[in-house]
Amino acid sequence: MGTAAIGCPSSAARPLLIAIWRLSSRRIRTSFGILNIDMPVLKNIAAIAKGMSITFMEMFQPTTVENYPDGKGPLKGARFEARFRGAHVLQRDENGLEKCVACFLCAAACPSNCIYIEAAENTTENRVSGAERYAKVYNIDYNRCIFCGYCVEACPTDAITHGHGFELATFNASNLVYRKEQMLAPRPAHMGANVIFNQADVDGGAPAQMVPGS
Ligand code: SF4
Ligand code: SF4
Repeated sequence: MGTAAIGCPSSAARPLLIAIWRLSSRRIRTSFGILNIDMPVLKNIAAIAKGMSITFMEMFQPTTVENYPDGKGPLKGARFEARFRGAHVLQRDENGLEKCVACFLCAAACPSNCIYIEAAENTTENRVSGAERYAKVYNIDYNRCIFCGYCVEACPTDAITHGHGFELATFNASNLVYRKEQMLAPRPAHMGANVIFNQADVDGGAPAQMVPGS
């Protein structure tokens, strides 16, 4: 009876069989839909497995230790990238004069408002920079500086640059207000920066005191 119904369905059984066929085909379509939904999940699992494989490979690599400031090995001391932005340096020109002309552009560009400048006029007797004015006072408050480099970008005379100084930590916040004298580049040797050292070589002793600004 059942075989006859499947092999040659009667008119009463045909709608039932059609309904079953439609239901089953819909289930197949749905299962393909589930596969499509699950594909991003599979991709995410593959990405995590790939990432973890790199982690596990790194776990078995030799450990790299930078010995700072002392210690053994070739990595002793601090190493810097070429574009590292450390404490600022106020540059001098080839004649030893300060490059800063007190134009205040760096202070205007500073987003932290941490540059304080007082300008003064150069005179014949007291020439500090190559222009009309120079910075009598030039302070940078490293409590607020974010080392963004905007002051360096803004300077028309390349007077202010970033050096590699990074040991700025202190227990007293007022020590972080750096004055011009702390940031000025040393005088060129032909301006007398090494006079005392040369004399010390002659005398055979250490210099009694440093020359200010050298
Ligand atoms: S590096 Fe940025 S925050 Fe620091 S003094 Fe220059 S402009 Fe201001
Ligand atoms: S450091 Fe440069 S931008 Fe700033 S006041 Fe001096 S010359 Fe002007």
